[in-house]
Amino acid sequence: MLNEPVSNVKGIGEKLSETISEIEIHSVEDLLFYFPNRYDIFEIKPLSELIHDDKVTIEGKVIGQPSLTFYGKRKSRLVINIQVDHVVVKAIMFNRSFAKKQLQDGDVVTVTGKWDQHRLQITVSNYKKGSADNQSPIQPVYPLRGNVTNYQLKKIIRQAFSQYSNQIEEIIPEVYLKEYKLPNRNQALLQMHFPTSNQMLKHARRRLTYEEFLLFQLKMQWLRKRTREATSGNSQQFDREKVETFIERLPFKLTKAQSNSLKEILTDMHSPYRMNRLLQGDVGSGKTAVAAICLYASITAGKQGALMVPTEILAEQHYKSLQDLFADQAKIVLLTGSIKGKRRKEILELIQTNKADIVIGTHALIQEEVVFGNLGMVIVDEQHRFGVNQRRTLRDKGLNPDVLFMTATPIPRTLAITAFGDMDVSQIDEMPLGRKEIETYWVKDNMLDRVLDFIKKEVEQGHQAYVICPLIEESDKLDIQNAIDLFHQLESYYAPDIKVGLMHGRLHANEKEEIMRQYADNEVQVLVSTTVVEVGVNVPNATIIVIYDAERFGLSQLHQLRGRVGRGQVQSYCILLADPKGDVGKERMRIMTETTNGFELSEQDLQLRGPGDFFGKKQSGLPEFKVADMVHDYRALETARKDAQEIIYSNLLEKDSSYFSLKKMLSREVEKGLNFD
Ligand code: ADP
Ligand code: MG
Repeated sequence: MLNEPVSNVKGIGEKLSETISEIEIHSVEDLLFYFPNRYDIFEIKPLSELIHDDKVTIEGKVIGQPSLTFYGKRKSRLVINIQVDHVVVKAIMFNRSFAKKQLQDGDVVTVTGKWDQHRLQITVSNYKKGSADNQSPIQPVYPLRGNVTNYQLKKIIRQAFSQYSNQIEEIIPEVYLKEYKLPNRNQALLQMHFPTSNQMLKHARRRLTYEEFLLFQLKMQWLRKRTREATSGNSQQFDREKVETFIERLPFKLTKAQSNSLKEILTDMHSPYRMNRLLQGDVGSGKTAVAAICLYASITAGKQGALMVPTEILAEQHYKSLQDLFADQAKIVLLTGSIKGKRRKEILELIQTNKADIVIGTHALIQEEVVFGNLGMVIVDEQHRFGVNQRRTLRDKGLNPDVLFMTATPIPRTLAITAFGDMDVSQIDEMPLGRKEIETYWVKDNMLDRVLDFIKKEVEQGHQAYVICPLIEESDKLDIQNAIDLFHQLESYYAPDIKVGLMHGRLHANEKEEIMRQYADNEVQVLVSTTVVEVGVNVPNATIIVIYDAERFGLSQLHQLRGRVGRGQVQSYCILLADPKGDVGKERMRIMTETTNGFELSEQDLQLRGPGDFFGKKQSGLPEFKVADMVHDYRALETARKDAQEIIYSNLLEKDSSYFSLKKMLSREVEKGLNFD
């Protein structure tokens, strides 16, 4: 059995099995799935094709006896004459005196190392007695930690194959193997470790990539089906007419994209299943407006709605704008960490007794003391900032409330269907009419004076500016000191005509509120801030944002920050101050100046950073694939998704015996843990 302890493989004693348990190899299966992270290629070439200083492999015959000399402390140099075709070359081996005994006059030997064209000699890094024909030109190089060597791994993996290969069961039904021309599981695994050619290795990878994606997608689809079945009966009976009227009374006409998304969401709410949907759209594309309509619909169905946001500032801002929007049509309450004492008690009471229709808050909403009377709808803003568990806790507070996640960091479709394979996705991919595209400039630090002058000109025209300080991740304190320093500099630079304000995370809630009020009322024209303004804050009169050390931010974050401006009718600007050292940093700045489309940016960000970083490792809930790569193999991902859908919805796992092995594997995977919800 493949799940036997790895010590059952011959040649793995107690010590070695302990060593490899440190690299998470416990079972035979773990060992077989411990893949090389690269391969050394030893391709034999004739001497005439070798290039000076390249790493090369040659094959020849040992001439005479190797000569060994010692020097320094226990250092040695072994020189062997090898005849290749009709030329004799010198092979030099350092500190391998033992090779002297192994290599005798007349032996055939294959050596790899650095080639010296002038002296016709090779400094050997690898050698093997015998002809190269006996060894694959492609050799695995395993990721190593601790005391285990590459040689040991190779040896025990070979041994594991010889003992267990007949137990490597095929799990993918024949039809798919045929359709996609994939090697079987046994073959693919063997080729991953000991490829006989590049071509075979490629096929092996293709097969395992498909396998990983298929299992993952099956898991997602299966979960989704299960959730649907478990949550039937939560149809929200909202009042369509009232909702229509509410929409008509909005101060603007919904964009087509808003209408479409809204329709999808309302259909979900009305359906007997619990909604689990992601609403993606650029900053300012009107997601909150859509959310408000959904909350209203929920109220007409007699339910409460909750809106959870990542920061207090944002909670307060949403609270105000929703109050404006709803006027007396709903009782809205705000619940954040800084609301305490009697006030807090009152609010909790309102929530519990169903007197509050809409509750807006930070993660304070998911604390135990908060009990909802009749929660029907949960909207989570900037969902990627919340951990999976937080989301689940909130959801569990109601009786299967419909859940809508909103994000202004558009996730590339490839990732959305992977990371959120069990979610439906709506997209708002157009901006309300009349918006001007933000002009973005990348300037070096030495242009600072001109930038400050530009701000002044904007302010003189009645506009406002954000100045974002670099984020210093390692130190909150430094971060804030930075902001304070910059604040003082700008304050004296602009005094007395222009008033400068300061905003950072350590300010007290009411200080924050006060400064935001001043900024919103244009009592303060230039707001120096750390990234706390990043999400959601809305001051339409702000037309310029300057970002210091812009190279320290990821594209998505820069895009978020840039979204603070361009919210009104006037032309807005984003200035990136940056002297990036590396190519990636320069590339980022260039991309920022070239596009304002969040979906496009996120694709690029993904290419530059890879999927792990994209979400932030901790809370990503992203699966880890061993072979597959979500970015590069996205076509296989789409294929696997389509196949998984068909398998689950046609119930093939239950009906068709050729799917039983796959089913067995899937149940095991599902049991192993669902670390995404
Ligand atoms: P998001 O939540 O996606 O950042 P908001 O819903 O806050 O966007 O909308 C940004 C601004 O645009 C708000 O001032 C809002 O009132 C306005 N807005 C929303 N939808 C429209 C629309 N269809 N037409 C014009 N303005 C709109
Ligand atoms: Mg529903």
